[in-house]
Amino acid sequence: MPENTQTTTINKVCVIGAGTMGAGIAAQVANAGIPVLLLDIVPKDGDNRNAVAEGAVAKMLKTQPAPFMSKRAAKLVETGNIEDHLDKVAECDWIVEAIIERLDIKQDLYSKLEEVRTAGTAVSSNTSTIPLAQLTDGRSDAFKNDFLITHFFNPPRYMRLIEIVAGPHSDAGTVEMVKEFVDRKLGKTVVDAEDSPGFIANRVGTFWIQQAVNSAFDLGISVEEADEIGGRPMGVPKTGLFGLIDLIGIDLMPHLMKSLTSTLPKDDWYQQIARSEPMIEAMIEEGYTGRKGKGGFYRINREGGGKVKEAKDLKSGEYRAAARPGLVRGPAAKGDLKSLISMKGKVGDYAWSVLGPTLSYAASIVPEATATVVGVDDAMKLGYNWKRGPFEMIDAIGAAHLVERLKESDYPVPPILEQVGDKTFYRVEDGQLQYFGTDGQYHDVERPEGVLLLEDVKRTSEPVSKNGSAALWDIGDGVVALEFTGKMNALDEQVMKLIQQAVPLVKSDYKALVVYNEGSNFSAGANLGLAMFAMNIAAWSEVEKSVRGGQAAYKALKYAPFPVVSAPFGMALGGGCEICLNSDAIQAHAETYIGLVETGVGIIPGWGGCGEMISRWQENPRHPNGPMPAVSKSFEIISTATVVKSAAEAKEYGFLHHKDGITMNRDRLLYDAKQKALSMVDGYEAPEKPEYRLPGPSGAAALKLAVESFHNRGMATEHDVTVAEELAYVLTGGNTDPIDVLSEADMLNLEVEAFMRLVRNPKSQLRVEHMLETGKPLRN
Ligand code: NAD
Repeated sequence: MPENTQTTTINKVCVIGAGTMGAGIAAQVANAGIPVLLLDIVPKDGDNRNAVAEGAVAKMLKTQPAPFMSKRAAKLVETGNIEDHLDKVAECDWIVEAIIERLDIKQDLYSKLEEVRTAGTAVSSNTSTIPLAQLTDGRSDAFKNDFLITHFFNPPRYMRLIEIVAGPHSDAGTVEMVKEFVDRKLGKTVVDAEDSPGFIANRVGTFWIQQAVNSAFDLGISVEEADEIGGRPMGVPKTGLFGLIDLIGIDLMPHLMKSLTSTLPKDDWYQQIARSEPMIEAMIEEGYTGRKGKGGFYRINREGGGKVKEAKDLKSGEYRAAARPGLVRGPAAKGDLKSLISMKGKVGDYAWSVLGPTLSYAASIVPEATATVVGVDDAMKLGYNWKRGPFEMIDAIGAAHLVERLKESDYPVPPILEQVGDKTFYRVEDGQLQYFGTDGQYHDVERPEGVLLLEDVKRTSEPVSKNGSAALWDIGDGVVALEFTGKMNALDEQVMKLIQQAVPLVKSDYKALVVYNEGSNFSAGANLGLAMFAMNIAAWSEVEKSVRGGQAAYKALKYAPFPVVSAPFGMALGGGCEICLNSDAIQAHAETYIGLVETGVGIIPGWGGCGEMISRWQENPRHPNGPMPAVSKSFEIISTATVVKSAAEAKEYGFLHHKDGITMNRDRLLYDAKQKALSMVDGYEAPEKPEYRLPGPSGAAALKLAVESFHNRGMATEHDVTVAEELAYVLTGGNTDPIDVLSEADMLNLEVEAFMRLVRNPKSQLRVEHMLETGKPLRN
């Protein structure tokens, strides 16, 4: 690669091709706050020459899961067409081509781009299959210098992987600039790929899907059995294999197969397993293309007003009621792969016939498709949502054992598997995670600058303190991280106890505290199981104690003499939201779904959420003054148990303050939160206690009217009204006179009062029970 000659950053992007991928990529650029020009062809019919790109944006505004993180982001997308607006690419620092997968059409577009683009800016293709050398064939040296492949995954907002292929002529600086941008601004994890067919994830993923389908037909395994054996126990998404094909579209399979068989060498193992099943061909022909079509391997049959889940019988091709085979038990069900592939009968046979070849194939593409085993693992975890990468799975089985089994089955044993012998692909040496390289040596797994993972901290140190539900970690530079460790990161008295211990500890020995963890979600909220137990035995004083204990712990954090920064991501619900509201600042991952959801289980926020929400709306510079607007807004948000769908939306709803930070890349969240906390250390003063001027009973009456009108229109149940009235009582200041000033302690007392009335209500108890049993709210 030529030396670094590029120093520009990316301030404006152009995406050409407004289909599934191009539109999604443009949305993600806009989500990062960067203006983006989205171009497509001029449609054959109609007067609107921008109709294709405009239509794509309009469609995205209605799509769920939403490509845009906020409506405001959509305004950053400027639409146009390649005939009238191609010259505008001159203003863009990066042009992303995401048009139809045809070499001739892509080459034609590039020749036009040569005329109009600014030399030295980046051009990349989102191609899934076409080699870089073919794409740039015939282009100038300047174009080749600026060109690379940026392979996003669908949907671009939610899939964290991006595979980047640089060619022999690509300018190192340009490649670095794009990598930096997609990592920090678009939140993607960059995996370097070689210019080989299918790159990494699709190469392994297509082999895996094909092998799993083949084996199901060959071994007479039903789709439900295949999904049960090949889903959860192997750590692939819970849809399982056939469920996944339904999701991505069955009609995509022949395309994937065709593109890989036409580009992979003739002796590649995939060529031998690529085959189409007449039954699947017939399904595609008849429009049974999966969820987007008439149905797929599964469908919901609504005939006769019912709702029956059905599955295709792979022998007869007919639908029948879906079964729950319940074949996988014991350690295998919990992900013990060695047990799974050793099971006798069809479970073990099917598991092995999928895993054996897939792991062997994955091991065979290093270094041809990517330099290291880490690249393959990252690609499969982030591009196909596997829990473990192929090499992590091999370590779990034992490489030596796998090799033995591969030989028994006459499957190929790739060199790297022979090389690793009875060692593992990953090891921890002096607290440092290392991987096994193709040179036979172990190398450190390097993290990019600005990436700090608790996972790494844990390898090198013991917690500063811990109990059954939380832990404190020293994350360096005088900062402590508070980690929730319970199931679903639920919050209980142990968490509150550790918070109370943390305050004097951080005060004497550290500078700041960050609330953070690396679970699937930040926190599901208070531990409802414990609450239910206390309710069942009518241990009301215990319930009240835990509400007051939570309030005290959160306020201890709020008024601690050091900065506290919460770093939520994923779900941050109920008490998980309240700890954020009680922090000095929030540094949220862009994909944060935060909300006060207590009313869904028949209660109200009890750990200070009510007062904090009002304070936020009172301080909101874009909101009218006076007591009622802030109260009404808080009431609207809490009574409907609103959960926002992004951190950007969290700002609109007041969960995040306008000065709170948003981190696009999940791996950078802890580092950013720590920097935010450190930036607040000098001259830090704990916040002043708020005072509330609230409207009292007349305000509550107004809110009640609104709820009753919902009830009359059938939009709120009777118990919804009861809960909403209690919430209104708290938010309007109880029986206060509008001229009175309420303290924070008064607000906390009101919360406890209303909370305790509600938990004693049998209808609220039913809601809690239902949530525990089904994970869904009960509308009683
Ligand atoms: P798509 O069919 O949804 O969209 C392609 C768009 O390109 C259409 O809107 C079409 O009108 C437009 N187009 C065609 N010729 C054009 C031209 N000359 N100038 C401007 N626009 C033109 O396709 P897609 O799925 O979004 O795929 C786009 C690219 O991304 C392909 O290279 C594909 O291989 C790759 N890719 C797709 C996926 C996926 O899951 N769909 C994933 C990764 C990469």
